[in-house]
Amino acid sequence: MRAAVYHGGEQGIAIEHLADPHAQPGELLIEVGFCGVCGSDVAMTSGSAFDYPAGRCFGHEYAGTVVEIGAGVSGWRLGERVACRPKTACGACDLCREGHLLLCPGGAHLSKGFAQFVAVPVEAAVRLPQSLSLADGALIEPMACGLRAFRAAALRPGDRVLVLGAGSLALSAIWWARRLGAAKVVVAARSDHRRDICHDFGADAFVSLSDDDPDAIAASLGGAPHVVAECVGKPGMIAKAVEQVRPGGTILSLGMCMAPEPILPIGLTFKEARLIFPLGYSEAEFEETARAFDQAGFRPEQMVSDVFPLEAVGEVIARLRAGAALRKVHIDPRIAA
Ligand SMILES: [Zn+2]
Ligand SMILES: [Zn+2]
Repeated sequence: MRAAVYHGGEQGIAIEHLADPHAQPGELLIEVGFCGVCGSDVAMTSGSAFDYPAGRCFGHEYAGTVVEIGAGVSGWRLGERVACRPKTACGACDLCREGHLLLCPGGAHLSKGFAQFVAVPVEAAVRLPQSLSLADGALIEPMACGLRAFRAAALRPGDRVLVLGAGSLALSAIWWARRLGAAKVVVAARSDHRRDICHDFGADAFVSLSDDDPDAIAASLGGAPHVVAECVGKPGMIAKAVEQVRPGGTILSLGMCMAPEPILPIGLTFKEARLIFPLGYSEAEFEETARAFDQAGFRPEQMVSDVFPLEAVGEVIARLRAGAALRKVHIDPRIAA
């Protein structure tokens, strides 16, 4: 099969022919339909201390079709459509018990969706509701992060929410803030070319981040935000959030900023504000996200701006690193090279 492999440093990302995987006992073999390119894929192929290990396949936002069923697996049929959690957990350690699935040192790493096929332990596969397409399914993973984030912020119905940024992470934040009962959701972003989709995902208003009026955000929210979701990941954004957040409020750092960001702790102290760094989702939150789309009749695939073949992974990541205004890119390994 063809798969993208990250070799680290200058060698970068290559598309290689690897042995076809098969479903071992307890596994399903998935033919990948779509795998999304995530901001973390850009960050983790940049030659920093946070890189994927060299020589590894990657891609953690994927959905596909069951094409082989391993021995001992019951209750599954060929052709069923699934979204895959990109990691399993041991289920027994302290971190697992606390719900930190992605931090468990055990379990299997299944971030290898930029490939034609992936064999996954059956517990990593989540059946897609009929109402969701494979493209919707590949968006469960990134969208689940917003659910965990607002749970961590203890968002209450009636709260005001400010989302900094308008990329795919921001869309997840907007959608969950709305679904979890925020009274008002305002997006502040540098350019307004994503205004329409932010509204489609549930934003009430869109404010320019370059607006010189420091009160513009609070004015459109009807007061300072109880929760600020930082979804840009550039230096200066946490400081912006500290400036805007309501006393007693919570700042969610979701942007995975790779550069130092100077903040004045006293600014947080004098507001008794919290600054937290949620990561990923629990197994239950992943499944809850799939159910929530189904119940809401919501099709997240509208956030996909481009679909490319596997061979484009390296180029897409390079373009994103250079600041290209792509929204959510899906890689479809079924497209012939
Ligand atoms: Zn991701
Ligand atoms: Zn564990």
